[in-house]
Amino acid sequence: MIIGAGSAGVAAAISASSESLSVLLIEKSNRIGGMATQSEVGTICGLYLNDDSPVFTYNVDDFTREFSVNVQQLSNSSPVINKDGLKFLPYKIEAFENHCKDLLQKHKVDIWLNTELTNVQMNKEKITSLTVLKENDTSEVLPQSVIDTSGVNIVSELVGVELQSISYQQNLTHIFTIENTKFKSEENLAFILLLKTKNQFDVSIVPGSFSVNEVALKFNFEDKNTDVVQEIEKVFSFLKENIAGFSNARIKSLADETGLRIGDRAEGEYVLTENDVLTCRKFPNSSANGNWPIEIWKANQQVEIKSIKKNDFYQIPATCLKSKNIQNLFFAGRNISADENAIASARVIGTCLQTGFAVGKIVQRSLRGK
Ligand SMILES: Cc1cc2nc3c(=O)[nH]c(=O)nc-3n(C[C@H](O)[C@H](O)[C@H](O)COP(=O)(O)OP(=O)(O)OC[C@H]3O[C@@H](n4cnc5c(N)ncnc54)[C@H](O)[C@@H]3O)c2cc1C
Repeated sequence: MIIGAGSAGVAAAISASSESLSVLLIEKSNRIGGMATQSEVGTICGLYLNDDSPVFTYNVDDFTREFSVNVQQLSNSSPVINKDGLKFLPYKIEAFENHCKDLLQKHKVDIWLNTELTNVQMNKEKITSLTVLKENDTSEVLPQSVIDTSGVNIVSELVGVELQSISYQQNLTHIFTIENTKFKSEENLAFILLLKTKNQFDVSIVPGSFSVNEVALKFNFEDKNTDVVQEIEKVFSFLKENIAGFSNARIKSLADETGLRIGDRAEGEYVLTENDVLTCRKFPNSSANGNWPIEIWKANQQVEIKSIKKNDFYQIPATCLKSKNIQNLFFAGRNISADENAIASARVIGTCLQTGFAVGKIVQRSLRGK
């Protein structure tokens, strides 16, 4: 049973079900893709080698490479190198979501949408059953193994295992898309935004989202009680009144969910550290390669970046995907066992897809008793 149909949960479901294991994937919202679709993040990071070459060389497993190639084709997009030399892939939200749905259908994964995990029953150190709430009905599920890809380690939380919260207040981000805009280039718009909105609002461009007449913007704020719709309307009115290229613009869409980058973390057999990430440590039982910089998004501050060596990458050992406390509980995506700065790198979608795919195979092997 897999909790949460984000990038990691989808990859885990496909990987686990491909060798005729019966897989149930539950998702509390009515959508597939997690933050990649509900928060409209718009770019897949962590896919390519971090080198100085103009060529985009994949540095991920075959599943993640194939997934990205397909999403790229469906999005009609091309990978981008930003001003810091980082490489990533912009995607269309519908393309990402539809591709996930197609894959899940092809692999005959049983999916329950609008279904929330609400309780976990244990016997000694093993999960015996899970209670889920689906459209006001409660059901009990008796899985052999549980993969928690909820992004917030909901299973460990419900069991009462002590979780690690992040030590600083994080920035919250709500993404919205504006159409009928008129700007020369992404750089030109970025400069104008900086100049005009400084000290007014914290808004920035979703990298790679710029086209001649459309752009996705990130609205960053700190108070979780903020009325996001009202604030974004205020930001939009300001942009329309003060920047010529927005004068005829309209809000095209608002993401369903505000994004909070890092959730509470549970401890696995190994805890990936910031040092492992920054020294590009390799492990014999690796589940994924990562090379995205550590990005620390503190409330009310500029993002702090800790870069990883060029031409190199770190690995995530399979022991980060296995709970230390609960025998039949596994993790993937931004739920893996990692310290707060290690996860600030390993949370990107390219890495979540890899740990998701890896954990599906690990569960298959564990059920076969290997
Ligand atoms: C503002 C922002 C910008 C970002 N930009 C980028 C970017 O440009 N590129 C990039 O690669 N990454 C980016 N990221 C990070 C990336 O989007 C996420 O870390 C990644 O998508 C996490 O995937 P996941 O599958 O681990 O978890 P999630 O996508 O969070 O999926 C978890 C799923 O579990 C479900 N769930 C939670 N609790 C329950 C429950 N009790 N029962 C059932 N279901 C439950 C949730 O509804 C959700 O669908 C960004 C993140 C944010 C917030």
